[in-house]
Amino acid sequence: MRLVLLGPPGAGKGTQAVILSEKLGVPHISTGDLFRANIGDGTPLGLEAKSYIDAGKLVPTDVTARMVKERLAEDDARDGFLLDGFPRTVEQAEILDGILTEAGVVLDGVVNFQVSEDVVVDRMLARGRADDNEETIRTRLQVYRNETAPLIEHYADRIITIPAEGTVEEINAATMAALGK
Ligand code: AMP
Repeated sequence: MRLVLLGPPGAGKGTQAVILSEKLGVPHISTGDLFRANIGDGTPLGLEAKSYIDAGKLVPTDVTARMVKERLAEDDARDGFLLDGFPRTVEQAEILDGILTEAGVVLDGVVNFQVSEDVVVDRMLARGRADDNEETIRTRLQVYRNETAPLIEHYADRIITIPAEGTVEEINAATMAALGK
């Protein structure tokens, strides 16, 4: 299965992705994790991305898209993947559409985890990641509203909306059921 996971920061996409990846047998590809791994390794890509991530802003699309394209070209992603954190803008969605068209494959679905802002702020503050301070959280929510939420419309023909304020298990069960698994 080829899926995109959508939702505001703190919606629990990453947590759900890990479980879904195992159950569906497809790799979990998180752009945030890829960036953090590059930052940890001190690569040029990591150095470039760090200032944007620390500020809660989007890393420029050319850098991000190149990284995703390379990752999707790896063997394990040939028959399916779960994209977590990409695309985050309509421009990125159009790039992804191009990559998939070129490969002759289609997205099976876009899972939209729906959570209120109060819940995501609480979840992010509890998570305590380096970019989870109040100022950065505010910026990321604004970026989500302005840049990422329009993707729900862009993918209207394949969106699967999951109410995502319950427990990890409940949300996973609802997602698997919605995917017909
Ligand atoms: P995440 O782990 O998905 O919350 O991403 C953490 C940070 O990585 C974001 O706040 C952005 O700075 C950066 N990032 C992740 N994915 C993307 C993307 N698709 N486009 C631009 N920046 C991204």
